[in-house]
Amino acid sequence: ATLLRFAPSPTGALHLGGLRMALYNHLFSKKHGGKWILRIEDTDSTRFVPGAVDGIRQSLEWAGLEYDYGPGKGGPHGPYFQSERLDLYRSYATKLLSSGHAYRCFCSQDTLSEIREKFARTGSSQSYDRRCLHLTEEEAARRVRAGERHIIRLNTGALRPRHSTVDLVFGQLKDAHGSLSTDPILLKSDGYPTYHLANVVDDHSMGITHVLRGEEWITSLPLHLDIYSSLGIQPPQFAHIPILLNPDGTKMSKRNGDVKVEDYIRVGWERGAILNWLALAGWGTQESSPELDESTSPETQSSKSETSLHTTKAAPDSTKVMDMDELISEFDLSAITHRSSSLDAGKLAFLNRQHLLRSAATPSGIADVAGRVRLWINEAKPLGEISEEYTTPEYIQSVIRVLDSRLINIRDMVSLAPYLFKSPDYTSDEAQQMVRRVTPEKRQQILQSMSAVLQSVDPTSWDALNLSQVIDVKKGRKDGSISLPVLRYALTAAKDGPPVIDLMVVLGKERTLARIKDAGS
Ligand code: GLU
Repeated sequence: ATLLRFAPSPTGALHLGGLRMALYNHLFSKKHGGKWILRIEDTDSTRFVPGAVDGIRQSLEWAGLEYDYGPGKGGPHGPYFQSERLDLYRSYATKLLSSGHAYRCFCSQDTLSEIREKFARTGSSQSYDRRCLHLTEEEAARRVRAGERHIIRLNTGALRPRHSTVDLVFGQLKDAHGSLSTDPILLKSDGYPTYHLANVVDDHSMGITHVLRGEEWITSLPLHLDIYSSLGIQPPQFAHIPILLNPDGTKMSKRNGDVKVEDYIRVGWERGAILNWLALAGWGTQESSPELDESTSPETQSSKSETSLHTTKAAPDSTKVMDMDELISEFDLSAITHRSSSLDAGKLAFLNRQHLLRSAATPSGIADVAGRVRLWINEAKPLGEISEEYTTPEYIQSVIRVLDSRLINIRDMVSLAPYLFKSPDYTSDEAQQMVRRVTPEKRQQILQSMSAVLQSVDPTSWDALNLSQVIDVKKGRKDGSISLPVLRYALTAAKDGPPVIDLMVVLGKERTLARIKDAGS
């Protein structure tokens, strides 16, 4: 059965690149009827950040990326923290020692740097002269008994030659033994494994079938394959995913400002939009323009043809609106581009609006949106205290409808139309400007006659069609009993906004009349 893993190191909050990797693992495993594991790679205690694991789990939960096995969930391959699996790594290292594929190295840091410097002087990139490989078994055993600090190295001299390997994204990769440092370290002197040993041991012992991970690990692949072959075990299949860049093209790192998932959650982006956006960054026809058919795009062609064994399948456009089910059914590793992709803020805005509209169209979706708006309005108080009637799902749904194309993020509701959530402020300069041409007496008179006209509209027919029969949308009313600028003033105290009829529909009869009354007093 297909089994994948998302294996973050708990060095900080989950960033967008990490979320995308988790998402790809989720999409691939679900597409193939498989499962995935969350594995915490915490063997480097110097980089461990307290609270990071909780943060990562919370971000995954928000995204709806539910791992099948892992912290808090358990499963048959646990523990899921590498720091709790140290005995396992040591037993594999011991196995390699007894088969001659690894050896103990007792060289001190000073000795090692001397050796490195000597190599460097002759222009060699070698880092170790393998002197400890030649220690006799008795000598090594004696020094271990004496408690001498040592590390365990892979014996690359014992490796059988390997030819090439196939990556599910990059296709045929040629062997890159030459780039290995001499006899890489597997186990450190504190008894902790290196990333390489732990990764291989876990992927094997957990039964991982496919490793989807960042392209930055592709240079470690030859070493990993060497460890697999030294252990006499089959490697999983690999898919290296080109990394994600910031919108400005710089590398996305956890230290870099606005890339934490939690920051995107906090400012109100739709979960579906974030996932849609991340999924399509680097999947498919990303850089080609919408008019351009993919098969005719020279850029797409050249990037796929050199190294890939696969032909590019039809891939979604980078702004195609897709929910999780659609992402799962269309996901295809052979359509992952080979270059790094940068995130485009404009695409997020576009997708967010689309996902928001989709949500607003279903009862559960709009209930969720309204709940988030209410929570934010009550907690952050962008408008001070507001009345609850303004955050019911039905009301929020009508607000979304009336703001229409201007609405991108749910937070925009308040900035675009604060008057839809609280009574207008008739004393503001803007409000005063709106009615500067009418005397207070005249205004009073207009408001009163408008009130009378609107009073007569049956509340059950308070809709755009009926209201536009009462009010001429261009002129108000010839007899002056309704003046559009005064009506807008009464409803919003703001110069710009949606058509007054639509505003009256959103506000409803009672609130409309109450505001007309307030505006006159
Ligand atoms: N712990 C590694 C990281 O956070 C995971 C690499 C892998 O997936 O193998 O980059």
